[in-house]
Amino acid sequence: MNNLIPAFRTYYSNDFSWIPSPLEQPPDLPSFVNPSLVTYLSGKLLLKTEISLNTPQLNELISLGLLDEIPAIEKHAWGNRCRRCGNQKSYLFAKLPDNVVYCRKCIVMGRVSEQEHLYAWRRPVSWDRHPPACKWTGELTTFQQQAADRIIKAIQEKNQRLLVWAVCGAGKTEMLFPGLSLAFSQGKRVCLATPRADVVKELLPRFVAAFPDVSIQALYGESPDKQGNAQFLIATTHQLLRYGRAFDVLIIDEIDAFPYHADASLPYATERAAKDQASFIYLTATPRPKHEREINRKKLPAVFVPRRFHGHPLPVPRFVAAFDIKSLEKEMLSRKVWDWLERRKRPDRQLLVFVPTIPNAEKVEKILAQRYKKVTCVHASDSDRQEKVYQFRKSVYDVLVTTTILERGVTFPSVDVIVLDSGHAVFDQAALIQIAGRAGRSSRDPDGEVIFFHQGKTDAMVKAVETILKMNRLGRRK
Ligand SMILES: [Zn+2]
Repeated sequence: MNNLIPAFRTYYSNDFSWIPSPLEQPPDLPSFVNPSLVTYLSGKLLLKTEISLNTPQLNELISLGLLDEIPAIEKHAWGNRCRRCGNQKSYLFAKLPDNVVYCRKCIVMGRVSEQEHLYAWRRPVSWDRHPPACKWTGELTTFQQQAADRIIKAIQEKNQRLLVWAVCGAGKTEMLFPGLSLAFSQGKRVCLATPRADVVKELLPRFVAAFPDVSIQALYGESPDKQGNAQFLIATTHQLLRYGRAFDVLIIDEIDAFPYHADASLPYATERAAKDQASFIYLTATPRPKHEREINRKKLPAVFVPRRFHGHPLPVPRFVAAFDIKSLEKEMLSRKVWDWLERRKRPDRQLLVFVPTIPNAEKVEKILAQRYKKVTCVHASDSDRQEKVYQFRKSVYDVLVTTTILERGVTFPSVDVIVLDSGHAVFDQAALIQIAGRAGRSSRDPDGEVIFFHQGKTDAMVKAVETILKMNRLGRRK
């Protein structure tokens, strides 16, 4: 990788020369190797326990040069580096009773110690070529088409990086279709990585419908299919920790989102999962300042999609000062909020209420139950949250109270959105833009009110609104 953009150099190391390149004249396969084992091994860095072969079989593949045995922990004069997760922080290594060093950072995936190896497959695998693979019959808007054309170009030219800055509700999935169609027609292997399993589950049926002839798999912590041997993988970013030199095209969804933004091992794994000439497509609705700087300096090629797929502008949040907004702590809701609920223009819409903390969510649920019959709340430690979100979408509930966990990736057809205590530190600029982006998603109800109840405006609130207004200005141009 020689064209790294500074904004993406957040991982520990980008030297992946320790992963062997594919053999030019590979030997024949021993009879115990079947095609599904080949696709399973291809592009992976696996522990012995993750390969269903016995030791003599494994040794035979190694002696034939088909499988490379790579020490899992790299030893340097300055310390250790875990090759699976990229960790090189000494405090994230520990010792077993017999003094063997292991990596604590990626321990949830099975322990990697200095005595362990990662196994890499060296026989090239050719993936199917699918002439016109896309069965989606919809039409892209002008802005979507512009982005789709740039994505095609990035995939065609190889070794490219492109950031697609598309507002919430721009229809980014559909923009990917033409580029994916091209990639599959050229027999390329593709991975779309996204931070959350919920999003993987939501995307899978849409891609399967669009590309019924392409092998597609969803891969996340609890996914029923663990093989990860399809031509097109839709995976949580964590799953890339098992891959090396696997993909011709990597699409990284929500690059600004936690945990991709916060955990350096994920950008590390993403880079490592790419083949030498791979193209990267980054998707975001709310780029971090470092990405914006790279775009402005023309170091990061970018394409904007400032208008939603239905052509209507983004709802602009309205600020309402409510100096008793913190009265939530006393299980009371600000008078200003009650007044707004009383005078809602469209009380037929469902209501999405964002609060800063889990205790707030539970309190507000209780308070709003005085007014609404069907109220529920969700937060990160709520095991029923997926079911509740599903039921809210089916209009089983009138009101859904949530922490920032629902700021992204969820679409409801007709909601008003309020944020209680929008000046709270958990609501940064990106979060507020994403939250506002939950309103007006459907072409049947493209507006939706967005109200920030606050006790003093913050930079994040002001900048969020400025950015939304700017996108709406850009979106009017065509
Ligand atoms: Zn590790």
